[in-house]
Amino acid sequence: MKYLAISAHPDDLEILCAGTLRLLVERGDTVTMSNIARGDAGSFTHTPNEIAAIRAAEGASGASLIGADYIAGSISDGRVNAADEGQRELVVDLIRRVAPDVIITHAPNDYMPDHNEVSKLVFDAAFTASLPNYITEHHAHGFVPVIYYMDTMAGVEFLPTEYVDISDTIDAKRAAFTEHQSQLTWLLDHDGVDMLEQITTVARFRGLQSGVHMAEGFTVCRTWLRTPAARLLP
Ligand SMILES: [Zn+2]
Repeated sequence: MKYLAISAHPDDLEILCAGTLRLLVERGDTVTMSNIARGDAGSFTHTPNEIAAIRAAEGASGASLIGADYIAGSISDGRVNAADEGQRELVVDLIRRVAPDVIITHAPNDYMPDHNEVSKLVFDAAFTASLPNYITEHHAHGFVPVIYYMDTMAGVEFLPTEYVDISDTIDAKRAAFTEHQSQLTWLLDHDGVDMLEQITTVARFRGLQSGVHMAEGFTVCRTWLRTPAARLLP
């Protein structure tokens, strides 16, 4: 099966679902990692274009470690907007280009607007991508894909309904995040957070909830045409 993970920024997928993505790759699924924003506000020292280029390279490196394809984003940080028709077209065409069976994206109630706007963009675009008369570069997707929402940052106000045992891939997840060197320092300086510690702590917390050593939590988007009868996560 084909899985498309869509985040706001280049490091979000490593933080929130990379253990699961690695498991999907290992079981033979095709995984594409993508971000909508270019990460151009994540620095105190670089210009927007400089840090965006650094972060696109970091995103490609992280995805490479996971074994996933990578598609970098083009929208400036802080400007992701689900009401923007151009941005919806961009996400529709991303979905059509990859043609996934399953999409993994941000929960609608995460901690900052780019994340929440991506969640809304993906929900809207996943349906619109199936409409042949909505014209973009790639042709219409043949069906409305299933959507899973990944954990919020630090798990705040998120109650998983599905857990994935990532005990065997936590090291790959940490290694993939470590490719985002610019963000190790940015998150420490801007947010006061050691993100590698947070990644491990959240995985252990979700593991305690589900009876395994390390886990990632998800919910499935329950709407008509999107609700799967089968479990599609590892
Ligand atoms: Zn982010």
